[in-house]
Parts: sequence; structure tokens; C-alpha cells
Amino acid sequence: MESIRSAPGQTADEAAPAAVRFENVKYSYEEDEGSFAVNGVSLTIGQGEFVAVLGRNGSGKSTLAKLINALLRPTEGRVTVLGQDTADPKLAFEIRKNAGMVFQNPDNQTVASVVEDDVAFGPENIGVPREEIGERITAALQAVGMSDFRFATPSRLSGGQKQRIAIAGVLAIRPRIMILDESTAMLDPKGRREVMDVIQKLNKEQGMTVILITHFMEEALEADRAIVMHRGEVVMDGTPEEIFARAEELETYNLTLPRAAYICKCLQEAGMPVGNAFCAEALAEEICRSLQKG
Ligand code: ADP
Ligand code: MG
Repeated sequence: MESIRSAPGQTADEAAPAAVRFENVKYSYEEDEGSFAVNGVSLTIGQGEFVAVLGRNGSGKSTLAKLINALLRPTEGRVTVLGQDTADPKLAFEIRKNAGMVFQNPDNQTVASVVEDDVAFGPENIGVPREEIGERITAALQAVGMSDFRFATPSRLSGGQKQRIAIAGVLAIRPRIMILDESTAMLDPKGRREVMDVIQKLNKEQGMTVILITHFMEEALEADRAIVMHRGEVVMDGTPEEIFARAEELETYNLTLPRAAYICKCLQEAGMPVGNAFCAEALAEEICRSLQKG
């Protein structure tokens, strides 16, 4: 970890590289096609940030994710992860360890017939010594609240539980960055909540950098920052509240508001004097305040 050590006279903050940095990045799946799935993205994600990535289907979100963990290398520009350039083949292994990825389908992500073997798969693959793997499994299962399921059969678990096992498998590799590519898309509301709680805990308690690709606007509200992608470009970047206050612009990117924010907007348009609210609790407060005034 040479690159993240502070130089003499520097504070750790000044010396710490960004978790992820994109500099004018373009990516094209077809060499000479001239169409770019990621088209001129410049972006810095600081260590410990929780960023939601929004955008309609085909806007380039998954390509962005794969560029981060060196599954893809930029056609143009530069991507660095904790200061390491993804274009350098010698760094790909280290970058993949640092930036773990959780995918959409919970059923495609379990490989073993016992939970603990499944969680062990990642660390085994990167050559973690046998005697250390057991404690990594314990810690990872504890972090996702699945300690009681260590000897369970993955196929018997609920979708939310399976995704938490997939997250544990990534955690056992000890990444500093966790990328979730629509990992809640196939879950029921309870399963989504379970996964979101785990992500929140990892971010808040362990300082894990989280990049959450989602089409649930409610989930974006839980992030510190939201970015919107459209046709391969980052077209909006701000706090979730800033993003959702720009409803008309969002609509042009085929995105909707969180349900509560939409109801709030309808009430405002109908002449009810309520302030902006984005979640149900805030909306309820606004409505109460407005009724008490009236
Ligand atoms: P999103 O995740 O936002 O739905 P993607 O990054 O998957 O978007 O896709 C961005 C664009 O790249 C789309 O136009 C898509 O058709 C194209 N694309 C994605 N994967 C491939 C691939 N393996 N080969 C060719 N084109 C691809
Ligand atoms: Mg995708």
C-alpha cells in the first residue's frame, strides 16, 4: 500500500488518493464504431463516499462499474482506483481486490453448496492463507448479519439473504470500495432493505466507499451523493436532494422522482403550501405543518 502512505509533512488527507478518478474517459465496445458507452466522463469519488449512480437502461452505468474494477480498460482517458491506473495490466489484480463488485442476480453469484465455502471462494482465489480464511468468513458473515447461516445451503436462502452472502464473499477479499450493480433489483422490499442496511453499516461504520447503481430512487436518497448518467455522460452530480429538486431535468433523462417527492410536487402544484420533501417522513411533517398553519 505504498501509494497511500503520507509523505513527511503531509496530512493523511492531503496524501490520500481518491477512491476512484475518471479523467476524460471514453469507452467503446466496438473498436472503430465511433459510439461510446461511456463518453467523456470526468469524475472523482473520495474515499468513504456513498455514491448512487442513476440512469435509464443503456446509459452506461454497468460499463462505468466495469471500468472501475478493471474488467474494462478505457478506450481514451484514464481511470485510477486508489491512485492505481487500471490500464496497467500489472495492477489489475490489486485493483480488483480493492474494488469489489456485487451483481444483480443473486442466483448467479453463489458457487458452493455451503455458505461458508461460498464466502471462502474469493479469498481462496487471491491466495489468502488457509488459517486466515476462517476468521475472514466469520467477520464477513457477521458484517452482513448472516453468522447463523454459515453452514446453510445458499439455494435455500431468500433473495436478500443470498445477496448478503454475495456481499460477504466480496467483503472476505477486504476491498476498500464496494460497487453494487443493481444488486437490489431482483429482491422484494424486505430483501432490498436488508441489503441497504448492510451497505449503510459498511459505509458508516467501516468507512467503506460505496458505489450503488440502482433504479430505485428511494435508495439514492440514502446516499451522500447521486450522479445521473445519460448516453454515456455524467449529466447531473450532487446531493440526492439537489438532484431530485430538478424534476423536469430528471424527466428528460427518463427518470422519476422518489414516490414521496412526487406526491410533494403534486401537492405544491395543487396549491398546498408544503416545502420540498423527498421521503415519506419528511412529507408527513410538511403536510402537518401546513395544516397547522392553515
Ligand atoms: P446500463 O448499465 O446503464 O444499462 P451499459 O453500460 O450496460 O448501460 O450499456 C451502455 C451501452 O453499451 C448500451 O448502449 C449497451 O447496448 C452497450 N453495451 C453494453 N455491453 C455491451 C457489450 N458487451 N457489447 C457491446 N455493447 C455493449
Ligand atoms: Mg447495467
